[in-house]
Amino acid sequence: MKNKMELAFSARSENESFARATVGAFVSQLDPTMDELTEIKTVVSEAVTNAIIHGYSEKTEEMIDLFVELEEDVVRIVIRDKGNGIHDVEEARQPLYTTKPELERSGMGFTIMENFMDKVVVESEPMAGTTVTLVKRLSKQRALCN
Ligand code: ATP
Ligand code: MG
Repeated sequence: MKNKMELAFSARSENESFARATVGAFVSQLDPTMDELTEIKTVVSEAVTNAIIHGYSEKTEEMIDLFVELEEDVVRIVIRDKGNGIHDVEEARQPLYTTKPELERSGMGFTIMENFMDKVVVESEPMAGTTVTLVKRLSKQRALCN
């Protein structure tokens, strides 16, 4: 059976930790390992930071949508902005690719998401926005580890 939540919050950097903690609390009911929980919180931070900085160019009156769905062992997280969008998604997903080197961005956000999750889908359209879907199946051992 599915268990779902959704949330909309302002594109403000202080909401990055809010989103991270909220997803962590929701996912905790599946008894993830500490590592799995850390990985999930990290990818949420990366995607929310991207929406704030790149999607909305730090226009804090804009809103970010977050959806989380749990089904058996699978966690599915969707983070959506209706901001600037990405011109070339394939290029943006390359390690070290960043359009904001002046902000000391390292271009590793998407690479981190890919490393920590089983599946990362990026749908984007210039001037319409970006939707990032992150899917992870939790390990069977998780209840024993904790
Ligand atoms: P880092 O995440 O290491 O601080 P970064 O954010 O530049 O650096 P990625 O997260 O991998 O690196 O993103 C790569 C590029 O993709 C960004 O520089 C930006 O051009 C584009 N991008 C990512 N997310 C969005 C988004 N939500 N809206 C618009 N552009 C985005
Ligand atoms: Mg990033």
